[in-house]
Amino acid sequence: MLTDYHVHLRPDEPDTTAAKYFTAGNAERYRAAAEEHGIQELGVAEHVYRFAAALEVWEHPLWREWAKDDLDDYCGFVREQTDLKLGIEADFVPGREDRMANLLEGRDWDYVVGSVHFLRDRSLDTQDYSVWGTGESPERIWRRYFETVGESALSGLYDIVAHPDLVKVWGDRALRPDKDLRYFYEPAVEAFAEAGVAVELSTAGLRKPVGEQYPARTFLEMILDAGCPIALSSDAHVPDQLGFRYEQAVELLQELGVEELAVFERRQRRMEAIG
Ligand SMILES: [Zn+2]
Ligand SMILES: [Zn+2]
Repeated sequence: MLTDYHVHLRPDEPDTTAAKYFTAGNAERYRAAAEEHGIQELGVAEHVYRFAAALEVWEHPLWREWAKDDLDDYCGFVREQTDLKLGIEADFVPGREDRMANLLEGRDWDYVVGSVHFLRDRSLDTQDYSVWGTGESPERIWRRYFETVGESALSGLYDIVAHPDLVKVWGDRALRPDKDLRYFYEPAVEAFAEAGVAVELSTAGLRKPVGEQYPARTFLEMILDAGCPIALSSDAHVPDQLGFRYEQAVELLQELGVEELAVFERRQRRMEAIG
């Protein structure tokens, strides 16, 4: 059984309206692409900040630019017009846990994917509002990043920790601390294990400047040693990216002795053999 849960129905680009992309026809294109890759468990996880309700959680200018759609319409669309699992990629905003809990509450998610894209109001992975080049050292940025990812797991808001070492996205050695990276991973791994969350193996990093899956092999080994279940995803934003470089991901999992993947239904997790 292969999964692809962290999937977006549209690119992060202007003019990608819900009217255009939240359609049965678009969902069928994703389903067809999943079948080609032998992915049986397919779900969507739209960015929370594409929904107007997100502004009740956080009013970052980047979110204000994007938060247009109706969250209930999205949930209704996925449940009524598709056979996809219903998820959401919900940013972790420290200090706003109660507000995010309110947003998530009362909606029948199959799973909630938690991600850290920002440190305070500075972005890790976009050119706008970037944390890089603000004068803060890579060492400090990496430490703060992994502490925040750990906090996100412990918040109890999430079923899956997304792209757990997103901080490396730009792949630039100058933005990477000059130190054994296990020093940074360790507090995050401890938090994942304590929280009992699943951790994503995402092939999205292979499409990014860093050219490596999230998490890095050493980080993944630590996560497995700590007993955390793995959720496999591509973070696709178009049907062509579904199951992106899964052969490589599955090979890595086999090498590390992983035989099962986390599968979710109405926020209940079970493990299924990769096969
Ligand atoms: Zn993300
Ligand atoms: Zn995503």
